[in-house]
Amino acid sequence: MIRALFRLVFIVFVLYLIYAVVRFFQTIGKSMPSRNEQGPVQGTMVKDEFCNMYLPRNEAVREVRDGREYFFCSDECRKKFFEANKP
Ligand SMILES: [Zn+2]
Repeated sequence: MIRALFRLVFIVFVLYLIYAVVRFFQTIGKSMPSRNEQGPVQGTMVKDEFCNMYLPRNEAVREVRDGREYFFCSDECRKKFFEANKP
C-alpha cells in the first residue's frame, strides 16, 4: 500500500520535473531574441546595385522592377542604374 503511494508520488514528481524543464526552456526561448527568424530586422544591409556599396536597408532607396527589389545609396544611383539597364 505504501509502496503504491510512493510510486504515485514518484510519477507525479517526474511529471512535474518534465513540466518544469519544458517551462524553463520556453522562458529561455522567449527571453532570448532569436536572430534571423524575425524577418527584416532594422540594420539589415542591402547592396547598391549600381556602385556596389552596402548600406542599411532603412536608409537605402528602394525600387521594385519586374517583381525584383533593387536598393541604391541615392536617387542618383537609382537613375543611373536604370539608365544603364534599359531593356
Ligand atoms: Zn550608390
